[in-house]
Formats: sequence, C-alpha cells, structure tokens
Amino acid sequence: MLADRIHKMCKEQYTHRGMPKYFTDSSMSKEVNVNDLRFRVQLNDALLTKKYGTECPLCPEQIDRKHSFDHEGYVWTPNKHPISMNHVVIVDNVHKPQEYSREMLEQLADFAFEAQPYFVFYNGPDCGATIRDHFHFQAVEKLPLSNFPTANNQYINHPAKAFHWSGSRDDVIENIDKIVMTGIENGVWDEPQVNIILRYNDTSSKGMFYGDVFLRSKHKPDFYYENNYDVAPATFEMAGIINTKSRTTFNNINKEIIIKILTDVCISDSEYNIMKRAVGIQ
Ligand SMILES: [Zn+2]
Repeated sequence: MLADRIHKMCKEQYTHRGMPKYFTDSSMSKEVNVNDLRFRVQLNDALLTKKYGTECPLCPEQIDRKHSFDHEGYVWTPNKHPISMNHVVIVDNVHKPQEYSREMLEQLADFAFEAQPYFVFYNGPDCGATIRDHFHFQAVEKLPLSNFPTANNQYINHPAKAFHWSGSRDDVIENIDKIVMTGIENGVWDEPQVNIILRYNDTSSKGMFYGDVFLRSKHKPDFYYENNYDVAPATFEMAGIINTKSRTTFNNINKEIIIKILTDVCISDSEYNIMKRAVGIQ
C-alpha cells in the first residue's frame, strides 16, 4: 500500500529533522470559525526563509533519494516544510512545466486510488504552485475540507468558488475536465488556475472517488501588500489550513479576513455561473 510507504517515509523525516513547530506549539496555531466551517490557521514562518538556489529544486538530482521512493515515473518525497502531517511532494522524473492536461488528471486519479485514503492534489501555476517549471503533485493524509458540508455539488458557506463531486472515477474526472475546458473556452484562463483535490475512500461498500476543484483568478489577494496579510492561498488554504508567514498576520487574522482573502483570489460570480451551467448545476 502506498499510504503505508508514505507514512513510514514521513515518520523517518520527523525523526531525522524534527516536527515543524506549529504541529506542537499551541501559540503557533489556532482555529477560526468561518460560517461554521473550522479553519486552522498556523504560523508557518519556515515559508519566510524558504529559498531556492539556481538549480531546479525538484529535479531528481536535487532530491534526497535515500529518504524518498520511486513510483510510476514520479519521485515521492517528504515535503521539507510539511504543512500538515505526512505531507509529500510527488515529482515527475522529467523536468517539464506545471500545466493542466486531461492526462495529468487521469494520473492524479490513479495516485488517489493507489494512495488511498490520502488526498492527492494539484496546484496550477499562478494559484499556489511555487515551483512552476517542474511538474508535481502533492499528497496529505488529512484536510479539514473532508468535514465541510456540501449540497448540490458545492460547499455550504465556503467563501471560495468551488465544485465538489463524489461518485465513479469517470464521473468525477469528466466533471472536473468539463469545468476546466469551460474556463478556457470562455476566456477565464489560458492556463487553468485551479486547485484540484482527488481522494478515493473505500469505506462505503462501492468505493468512491471524491473530487474538488477550486476556481481561481489570482495567486495573492489584491490587499496582500497594502495590508500586510501575507497569505498566498494554495490548495491547503482553500481546504481549510491557512498559512501565515508573520506573527502579525497570524495574530490579526480572523473570520472576516479569511473570507476576504478566499473570495478575492477566486473567479467572479458571472464566471462561476457559466461553469455551473456547463455541468448542469442551477
Ligand atoms: Zn526540474
């Protein structure tokens, strides 16, 4: 089982390098209730010091292969700055850009199935992927999103523009791909600005795929610089874990600010309506 391999690999990482402070230090994480959804906010100051050299940090020769494993043309390696427990980066063996394709969505679904019950996800460029020159996915064991209620293929009370599907692999993939294509055809994006999360859970008798797509318009909110709210949302933020780089933002952030950030980085109401119609949601 892939989940067991990930678990073992991450356990070694924590033994080796120690746990991130915000996992255990209660002064570095807090819960914020956003319209009855429980968001976790953490002070992730490692993000401030995260620097890359001139070499691509995801090319195979830059990765610590002793503490990683190979699977299906990808290197699975612990994230050096894990945002949540057992957080891995799944890196393509080939240096090629981060971009959407139907083929990559199929690959994401394969990995979600093989790494069940992990959430496997994709950050598009300009909406979360910090390294956009080298194709990669990520995976993590738990996300608050799995506790957020849904109705009519949308999250109830979630400030972001998103869709949620559960069902067969083909249905979930077909719907996500239709959304992405609708965005391209209607000039919402050239390269799709989406955060896509897939998960397979076989606790129901049939086994079930769960798919989410968050529809983005930008990487950072407009007030990122003016107000010093240093949150640059990616999949984790959309899915309920907000990372702040500074103590000031961490202290100040509240329900209203989270709503403002997540609303600001998503597509407009009219663009959302076009996509709803494309997949038959009223
Ligand atoms: Zn590379």
